[in-house]
Amino acid sequence: MVTQKKISSKEMAPATGIGNRSGYLYTGHHRGFRTTVNIDGVKVGNKELAIIAGPCSVESAEQISRIAREVKAAGANLLRGGAFKPRTSPYDFQGLGEMGLQYLREAADEAGLKVVTEVLDPRHVELVAKYADCLQIGSRNMQNYPLLREVGRSNRPALLKRGLSATYEEFLLAAEYIMAEGNRQVILCERGIRGLSSELRFTLDLNAVPYLKERTHLPIIVDPSHGTGDARLVPAMSRAAIACGADGLIIETHYSPSESVSDARQTISTDELASLLRELSRIAATVGRDIPVPEAER
Ligand code: PEP
Ligand code: MN
Repeated sequence: MVTQKKISSKEMAPATGIGNRSGYLYTGHHRGFRTTVNIDGVKVGNKELAIIAGPCSVESAEQISRIAREVKAAGANLLRGGAFKPRTSPYDFQGLGEMGLQYLREAADEAGLKVVTEVLDPRHVELVAKYADCLQIGSRNMQNYPLLREVGRSNRPALLKRGLSATYEEFLLAAEYIMAEGNRQVILCERGIRGLSSELRFTLDLNAVPYLKERTHLPIIVDPSHGTGDARLVPAMSRAAIACGADGLIIETHYSPSESVSDARQTISTDELASLLRELSRIAATVGRDIPVPEAER
């Protein structure tokens, strides 16, 4: 006989949307108010743009520590790197798990950066939150409702990536799942959707930036690496993202992109990141934003 576990009221769905015709209880606009998400002191949604850089995957202590130093010197303020990887094939590298989280934390602390990393499984939220300053929910998990709820119960800010074929409505409702649980620190990330191009991995939908700025007070950043799948296109799409109002960028970066164990084709070098950020600081200034490029680099 199948016995059903009794669900506590905490595990039950909150009354999101009940009595509210739109259903956008937490993401909707509040009279011009904009949310600033605070990642342990790094503000996202402020005048200063958030630059999240680092490898697709954490590969070793040496790899992540060198990349952390180099992206910090280039002007990034947040370090990315996956320890739990959502790979299309189950036979591809799946990440270093907790060891990867440890390497990432140590590298970030040494370099003076904050950590953004993906959590794949609701059972790992507590573990990942122990090492990370911001929990990334990947594109493939944007509609993983148990994961969204669990991240909603965490006290770490969330970086929610748009599903690869999700509408804006579905994207905002995914953010509602997190916020309805109490976590109001949500950053949206446009990372490209499935388009018609067979030459490029995804189509970066920059409409999302100005459109979502109309729809929600949440900050929105752009991922030009997954959004194009091609390192050669990353600088141009980064410039476009800042010009159209993005609050930051998440860019896959490695000192030797071709050696990356995952997403090598879309990864730029740490040298390219440094020159890109110099260039972006001028574009940022024209749209009333600031970029954290070290003074000496300007
Ligand atoms: C990533 O950031 O490495 C990643 C897997 O991104 P996405 O979920 O957007 O594919
Ligand atoms: Mn990647």
